Amino acid sequence: MINVILKKDRDKPIRMGHPWVFSGAIEQVEGVGKPEPGEQCRVLTNKKEFLGVGYYNEKSTIRVRMFQAQDKPIDLTEIRERIDIALALRQSILNESTNACRLINSEGDFLPGLIVDKYGSGLCLQITTAGMERFRMEIVNCLAAALSPRFIYERAENEAATREGLAAKNSCIHGSLPEKLLIREHGLQFRVDLEGGQKTGFFLDQRHNRLLLRKYAAGATVCDCFAYSGGFSANAWAAGARLVHTVDSSKDALELAKENLAHNKFPREESNFIAADAFEFLRGATTKYSCIILDPPKFARHSADRERASRGYKDINLSAIKIMAPQGILFTFSCSQAIDQTLFSQIVFAAAADSGRQVQVLHRLSQPTDHPFNIAHREGEYLKGLVLRVI
Ligand code: SAH
Repeated sequence: MINVILKKDRDKPIRMGHPWVFSGAIEQVEGVGKPEPGEQCRVLTNKKEFLGVGYYNEKSTIRVRMFQAQDKPIDLTEIRERIDIALALRQSILNESTNACRLINSEGDFLPGLIVDKYGSGLCLQITTAGMERFRMEIVNCLAAALSPRFIYERAENEAATREGLAAKNSCIHGSLPEKLLIREHGLQFRVDLEGGQKTGFFLDQRHNRLLLRKYAAGATVCDCFAYSGGFSANAWAAGARLVHTVDSSKDALELAKENLAHNKFPREESNFIAADAFEFLRGATTKYSCIILDPPKFARHSADRERASRGYKDINLSAIKIMAPQGILFTFSCSQAIDQTLFSQIVFAAAADSGRQVQVLHRLSQPTDHPFNIAHREGEYLKGLVLRVI
């Protein structure tokens, strides 16, 4: 195994359990020849004290993903055990009314580079590191044996996989995809477009927040901005909303949203679906909404984008708060890792102050239990939200 020797004083995060070694923390790599992407490595301090075993990839600025503190090769038994531990956590989420959730959440389940989502009786697999890619077949076999899925669909085209030099993948690798993949979430039905959809097809991470919306949407005039396949819209209708406007810049997303409202027998007049830039739409909106949802895509990809992203979040929250009917409810989110809960609250509170309205905080929201994060890897805590009441 190659040895990766860290620079002086760069060992603390690893000792604390952080799973990433950045290129800038490495003094030297010892071994025969050039390491292959995903090759296993021992990580040592500057004084050659052993820290742990991980896997290496020179193509990525995250050079090493740590896997274990034991000085032995990473083996399949350990991977299987971690998969079993991850699966056990999800048992309480799946039931009659919900048959989709994230089963394996990469670093958050101590399996860096491995994401597995359950969609009904099938799975969507996403491998984002060269090191995990080396165990691909074994992982597929292990999932097939543990869960007997009807299909395993593989997607690897996200930026993380590209950064690691992995080929794009978008195909069914086990069993066969049903013609129409329908899932259930808190009793509602949604079609998941694994082949053409965003992320791995559905935004599973908003499941509990969508359910919370039901408490506030009865009789409301709702605007679901950044709606994608209509998850929040459907929950608003389920709660008995008076009217729901479903807004997204993607026409394909809106088509899917329309279809999803139809699956649940909710109204779907053309005029309720608005293909528009949400920033512009809210600035020009004439309807007084009593409930607005803002669930935008990641505005900050890196900490360098933080300022620009903050302006985006402030802008859109200010527009929403301004047009809200008295005692209106705002569900507002950020899924940017680089914007933490404290900063997000500051941005939204600044927007509220600028609006001149009185605003209360009802809930602070986060990602659900099937998207856990490792306490030593705070980058895994990406979804944050607030529910505000605008007087
Ligand atoms: N709320 C959704 C997930 C939202 S994902 C759910 O619960 O499933 C973010 C969505 O924002 C995507 O569908 C994307 O098409 C849309 N989007 C991105 N930029 C936008 C913009 N400027 N205006 C409106 N929609 C936008």
